[in-house]
Amino acid sequence: MGTMKDALLKAGLKPTANPKEQNEREQISKKKMTESVSHQVQRNFCEECQQVLPDVELYYHRNPTTEAEWICVKCADRLKIADSFRQTAQSDTSIKKMFRREHGATRQASEFKNVIAQKPKGPVNGNR
Ligand SMILES: [Zn+2]
Repeated sequence: MGTMKDALLKAGLKPTANPKEQNEREQISKKKMTESVSHQVQRNFCEECQQVLPDVELYYHRNPTTEAEWICVKCADRLKIADSFRQTAQSDTSIKKMFRREHGATRQASEFKNVIAQKPKGPVNGNR
């Protein structure tokens, strides 16, 4: 007789998400929590240049040369990703209203509700 656990594993459910990653996220959220990102964790790691920077935002772009979505201003400019693809105004730079794009127009911070649209990557743990 197969156990319930076997059945769940067969159904594709992973028993645990990456616990280490979750711990790191919790730490960041405590340290970096601000009013405008109170329900989500602030992101400041540029997936393109792999650096922690104060002006990283989420872009749902269609640039085929990169799979990065959380991108700093410098990389976004270099990749010529228009600010119209930007989804967030959550970085420290945005919060201080110092966010400026060199490539094309910069969207007004008031166009963003500071809701971080999260697109899950990899296994998702619904028990957070
Ligand atoms: Zn970058």
